[in-house]
Amino acid sequence: MTTTPLTGQVLSPTDLGYDDARSVWNAMVDRRPRLIVRCGTVADVVNAVRYAREHDLEIGVRCGGHSVLGLSVPADGLMIDLTPLGGVTVDPAARTARVQGGALLGALDRATQRHGLATTAGNVSHTGVGGLTLGGGMGWLARQHGLTCDNVLSYEVVTADGEVVTASRTEHPELFWGLRGGGGNFGIVTSFEFRLHEVGTRALLVNYSFDPADAVPVLEGWRDLNATAPRQATFTAGVGSSGLVDVGFVWVGDPAAGRRLTADFAALGRPRQETVRELSYLELQTMEDSTGGHHFRRYWKGLYLDRFPAEAAEAFAARGGGDPALRPAMSLQAYGGAIQDVPESEAAYAQRGTLFELVAAARWTDPAEDADRMAAARAAAGPLDAYSCGVYVNVLSDEGAAGVRRAFGAEKLARLAALKRTYDPANVFHLNQNIAPAS
Ligand code: FAD
Repeated sequence: MTTTPLTGQVLSPTDLGYDDARSVWNAMVDRRPRLIVRCGTVADVVNAVRYAREHDLEIGVRCGGHSVLGLSVPADGLMIDLTPLGGVTVDPAARTARVQGGALLGALDRATQRHGLATTAGNVSHTGVGGLTLGGGMGWLARQHGLTCDNVLSYEVVTADGEVVTASRTEHPELFWGLRGGGGNFGIVTSFEFRLHEVGTRALLVNYSFDPADAVPVLEGWRDLNATAPRQATFTAGVGSSGLVDVGFVWVGDPAAGRRLTADFAALGRPRQETVRELSYLELQTMEDSTGGHHFRRYWKGLYLDRFPAEAAEAFAARGGGDPALRPAMSLQAYGGAIQDVPESEAAYAQRGTLFELVAAARWTDPAEDADRMAAARAAAGPLDAYSCGVYVNVLSDEGAAGVRRAFGAEKLARLAALKRTYDPANVFHLNQNIAPAS
C-alpha cells in the first residue's frame, strides 16, 4: 500500500504551539487531536485527507474555530488547520474576491474595503469565512445583497477521495447547490470566489434602551417599524444583564439617510439611553469582537422566528425567568430583503422567510456553572419555540440529528443526503452538523 506523507506544519502533543492550535472560541472545548497539520497549500490539504484515511484517523477541519461545539477539534484524530490558508485577493474591476478556505472575516473585509467594496460577512471579524459561508452567512449587508452563500460564484473543494474539484453553476452544479448552506459535509473548501458590491465605507449604529416595564409595547412597535424598513437597515433588539430592552438598527450606507429613520423611533416612547453613532464599515465589522471574544465558556440556543406577537416579546424580555445571574443574553436580528429575493429551491440554505433570528447566548467562566447556565439558556429560548419556523444550522449546538432535520426540512435534507452519498459515502467529513449519506 502506498502511504501519503503529511505535509505542512505538523504538530504533535509535545510540540510548542500544539495547545494554541487546538484552542477554539468556546473554552468548554478541550479535546486533544493526535496530530494537527497546519496546511499552507491545497496539496497539504489533499495529503492530510489521504493520510487520515490511510491511518483511520477522524478528521476535524478548522477555519475560525467558532463552531459552538468546537467541531473543528477531533479527539485523538487529525485536525486539519486551514488558518495558514488565509489569503484574500480582490479584483476591483471585476468586483470579485478569491478567498482561501482558512481566512477570517476580518481579512475579507479589510481587503475589499480598500476599494469601497464588500460582500455579506458576519458581525465578528475573528469568525471564519469557511464555516460561516458554508452554513449560509448572515450579516449587516444581507438585506441588501443576500446571504454570504448567495454571493459565492465558485468553490474549490478537496473531496473525501483527495480530489480537487471546482463547484459552480456550470461545474458540479449539484455540489454547488449543497455547499450553499449544507456546511462542511461535502469536502474541504480551499477557496471561495465571491461577488462584491459597492457599499462605500460608512455605517450608522442606532440603539435605544428602554425600561423592562415597557418591553412589550416597545418590542411590538419596533417589530412594526421593521416591516417597512429600507434594506440598508437591519433591525436589532436585545436584553442583557442590565435588564434594559435595547431596540434599534444597523445601517450600511450614507449615515444621513440612516438618521432619517430614527424619527420613526420617537413613537416608541422615551428611552433611558440613546446611541446614534456614525462609524466606518470596518469599525462596524469589528465592534463586537471583544464581547464575542475567546476564553469564555459558551452555550447557545438559536431559533428562526417567523412571527413575533406580544407573547413572544414578553418571553424574549423575561429571558426564561429564574435566577437573574444565570439568564443568557437574548438578541434578535432581522432577515428579509434580498435574502427573500432568492427562491427557496436555489440553495441548500433553508428558511428564507425568517422574520428574526433569535439567539439566547450564555457566557461564563466557572465550570461549576456549566449545567445551570445551559439549562437557563434552554429555558430562555424554549417559550419562543412556538413562534419558530426553524433554526440556523450555524447556530445549532447540541440538538444532534433532530436539529439538522429542523435546519433543512425533510425535502432538502433528502437531497443533501443523496449528494453526501455521491461525494462522501463513507461520511469521512462528519465532525460538523452532520448529514448522513443516503443509504
Ligand atoms: P470552525 O469551528 O472552524 O468551523 C465550523 C464548521 O465548519 C466545522 O464543522 C468545520 O469543519 C467546517 N469548516 C470550516 N471551514 C471549512 C472549510 N474551509 N471547508 C470545509 N469545512 C469547513 N454566523 C453568521 O451567519 N453571522 C454572524 O454574524 C455570526 N456571528 C458569530 C459570532 C461569533 C462570536 C460566533 C462564535 C459565531 C458567529 N456566527 C455567525 C456563527 C458562525 O457562522 C458559525 O459558528 C460558523 O460555524 C463559524 O465558522 P468558523 O470557520 O469560524 O468555525
